[in-house]
Formats: sequence, C-alpha cells, structure tokens
Amino acid sequence: MVKERNKPYIIGVDLGGTKILTVVATAQGEILLRKKEETRALGGPEVVLDQMEEDIREVIRVQGIDFEEIQAVGVCAAGFYNHRERVMVKSPNLTGWNQVPLARMLEERIALPVSVENDANAAAYGEYRLGAGRGRSHMVYITVSTGIGGGIIADGEIFHGSQGYAGEIGHITVDLHGPRCNCGNRGCLETLSSGTAIARRAAEMLASGSPSRMLEAAAMEGRQEVTARHVFTAAELGDAEAREIVGRAIEYLGAGLAGMAMLLNPEIFVIGGGVSMSGDSFFQPLREAFCRRSPGPVSENVEIVPAGLGDEAGIAGAVLLAVEEFAGKKE
Ligand SMILES: [Zn+2]
Repeated sequence: MVKERNKPYIIGVDLGGTKILTVVATAQGEILLRKKEETRALGGPEVVLDQMEEDIREVIRVQGIDFEEIQAVGVCAAGFYNHRERVMVKSPNLTGWNQVPLARMLEERIALPVSVENDANAAAYGEYRLGAGRGRSHMVYITVSTGIGGGIIADGEIFHGSQGYAGEIGHITVDLHGPRCNCGNRGCLETLSSGTAIARRAAEMLASGSPSRMLEAAAMEGRQEVTARHVFTAAELGDAEAREIVGRAIEYLGAGLAGMAMLLNPEIFVIGGGVSMSGDSFFQPLREAFCRRSPGPVSENVEIVPAGLGDEAGIAGAVLLAVEEFAGKKE
C-alpha cells in the first residue's frame, strides 16, 4: 500500500444544474479546499466538461499538489446516471446531456481515474459514512428541497438496482389523481411534498385574497412571492392555512417513507434538503404520519432524523466512493 500513501489526495466534483463545486480532499473525506462557480449549463456537455477540467486543474494548482499525489476524481451529478455503463443517460437540469459517457470523457481530459455517482446516491453514502447514518447498515436518505431525491444504503452499500436508478422516491405515486409532475406522471411524491409543491399550494390559497402570516413572513425578507420556508415560518407562528399546507405535505411524505420502509426495512431515514432545518415542528408530525401508515413491527425501531452534512453530503460521498472504487479499501 506504499502507492496509496504517496497519493493522499482525492478531487471531488459536485456537478449541479446551477453550480459546480470542486474540492481537494483527503482519502478520509476531509475537505481541504473548495471552489464553487456557476455551471455553464446552457453550453452543453463539452462546455461543462471543459469547465470541470479547468476547475480540477485550478484546485490542484492552488492547493500546491501534484497530479502524481492524486488517487482519483469522484464526481456526483444530478441526473439519471447509468452506473453499469458509466453513462449519463439524461440530466433534466443540464442542457443536452443525453447518453454522455461522463466518466470516460473526464478521464481522457485529465488522465486520472474518475468515478461518477448520482448526486442523491452520493449524498446517501456521505451521510452513511460521515453524517447522520454513521454506524448503520440499512439507511434511506431523502432530500426534500425544490424536488425530492433519495438514495438507499443496504448492507452498507449503495443499492443501485439494475442500472443505477434505485431510490428515486420523489417519483413514487402517492396520489393517483394528483398534480402533474415534471417526469410526466401524476401525483408523484415530489408534486405534493417538495418545497416547490408547498410554495405552489400557498400561492393557490393566497389567490383567494385572505390575509395570511405567510405573506408577512415573505414581506419580512422583502419578497412578494411566498416560498416553502415562509410557509414553515408562518405555520410555526400559528397561521392556520400554513399549518394545513405543511401538515398535508408531511402526511404525503410520511406515506412515502412508510412505503419505503415496507420495501426495505431500514434502521434509519436521514432527511436532507431545506426542510431538515425545520426541527421538531417538522420531524415530530413526520414520525407520527409515518407510524400511522406502517404496521408496528416495521415502524417500531425506525428512526427519522435530520441529515448531518448539509450541502456537502454529496461531495463527501463522491470523494469516499472514489477511494472505494480505486483503492479498494474503506478506511
Ligand atoms: Zn414524477
């Protein structure tokens, strides 16, 4: 293992539709240097790959290290990534990303081994190794922000399914006649429990013109449109309509979790995204909704907890997965 000791660094890249985060990290997942910039997403895959290459070369230069000291590059990216074929099949937030062999294209540019994982799977792995799921073997990670994503840890490994798309909890149908989803389906969990869904529901309620603390919460930040965060704030202040909106979103999320629990029998659900900051006013009713919809033996010992790593769960997971893939050891 002398070879690994001479290569103490991993480069991590979190490729999102709006931002690219590039880091230098240790093989234990400690981040030493960060660079964040807007994704030139409209330029298409070649432009974004140029940008990734530039960012990687820059963090290496700024950190003052050598290519020979780098074990691998770990990338997490938003989209349907076929793990077996190493191809980004489709990325809704990145223009023109259809059937892009991301790992190979980046390897050709920088001559380092590259591992790629879907962002929610990487975040699940990050939380499992370093965050709220530490020490557990069966974990489901769910991120609730503008959309809803998820990743499954089964027996200490990411459960990929046949192609790598397992864990897409946001697109489980929870209402046969619910709102239309971006994916084309109706009544996906994402259309009922995401931040976007909460904000849309608030806008519908407010259209009737009744006064609400949701508007006050938005106005306090100098904004006219009400976001999910304003709805949560108003609910905590006792606003009846806001409470109804939050309660409904939580009820659907609890039903989604109950379905996952029946299928996977996890020890713990780790919830990330904006809502994970909401504290007990969110988690207590979520636990209750979950228990109402799961039979005793399944729900009894399941914990539902906020994520521990915030925005950096994905990149931490991507770094550790790169170590795993190319060094073949856990710690
Ligand atoms: Zn959907």
